[in-house]
Amino acid sequence: MGVPKKKTTITKRGFRQSHQKVAVPAMVECSHCHALMQSHHVCPSCGYYEGRKEKEVVVKEHKKKMKGR
Ligand SMILES: [Zn+2]
Repeated sequence: MGVPKKKTTITKRGFRQSHQKVAVPAMVECSHCHALMQSHHVCPSCGYYEGRKEKEVVVKEHKKKMKGR
């Protein structure tokens, strides 16, 4: 395996890392349930998009079942 001859300077590392960042999604308030949701996406809590119901929201009951045990 190739071994680097010299240590990469902090400045060079820093310049490269300045392009590596996580994009924060644009969050907007849902017009139907007023929960925070990603813009241009179907609302995860009510399933509405532009006033229409686009998908059925499945209520997670997995945790409840686990508590009952
Ligand atoms: Zn909603």
